[in-house]
Amino acid sequence: MVVAIEPVVTQRELLPEEIRNPYFPAEVEDISGQSVWACMQCGTCSGSCQFAEQMDYTPRRIMEMVRTGLREQVLASKAIWYCASCYSCTVRCPRGIQVTRVMMTLKSLALRAGYVNPREDAPAFYDSFLRVLRMFGRVHEPTLVAAYALRTRPTRVLGMMPMALGLVRRGRMAPLPDRTRSLGEVRRLMEAVERVRTSESAGAREVGVRAQSEPRATGQEVVVR
Ligand code: SF4
Ligand code: SF4
Repeated sequence: MVVAIEPVVTQRELLPEEIRNPYFPAEVEDISGQSVWACMQCGTCSGSCQFAEQMDYTPRRIMEMVRTGLREQVLASKAIWYCASCYSCTVRCPRGIQVTRVMMTLKSLALRAGYVNPREDAPAFYDSFLRVLRMFGRVHEPTLVAAYALRTRPTRVLGMMPMALGLVRRGRMAPLPDRTRSLGEVRRLMEAVERVRTSESAGAREVGVRAQSEPRATGQEVVVR
């Protein structure tokens, strides 16, 4: 007796290509080193995340959206920028998935693919932090806060002045930056990290070559529950 075997088509595969990017899961896996297919959608990551309520998509939903290939929706989401890299999800995931690394990968891809408004709070803070680190080799809070506020809402600087002066008066904050003696070493380290990120990105581009070239802003949204 001949039995016809029907190919198994999942719901995600039924989504049209302008919504679903089939290369996206591999792109994320390549950079993060994590298997998104190992996720069993238990929701422990969302339950462990202090910021899940503020996120537009919880970490569990982000994992499913990555698997579904909703590249545009994921990279444009606010959720990835609310992630504070606290690692709670990572230590609790029963499948050993480092969700934090997945979130970091998504931030990096969002920056590179131009999904991020550099004046938005979280990306502006990340960028200001790195600039200050590159300048002094360590963080100088007043410079960091000023750089961040000037990029987002400059008037905030004025509002912060009384508190900053109080901290300086009490000796809790150094008014002038102090460069670390190993500034060259810090800069070399940052350049090495940047080189690794660039090569990871190039590798991912090979896997997701279509991911990079696909049209954006389809305006269509798929709800992953
Ligand atoms: S905790 Fe791990 S297995 Fe559970 S939903 Fe999150 S990523 Fe998936
Ligand atoms: S690492 Fe990010 S996603 Fe995971 S629990 Fe912490 S804030 Fe939430």
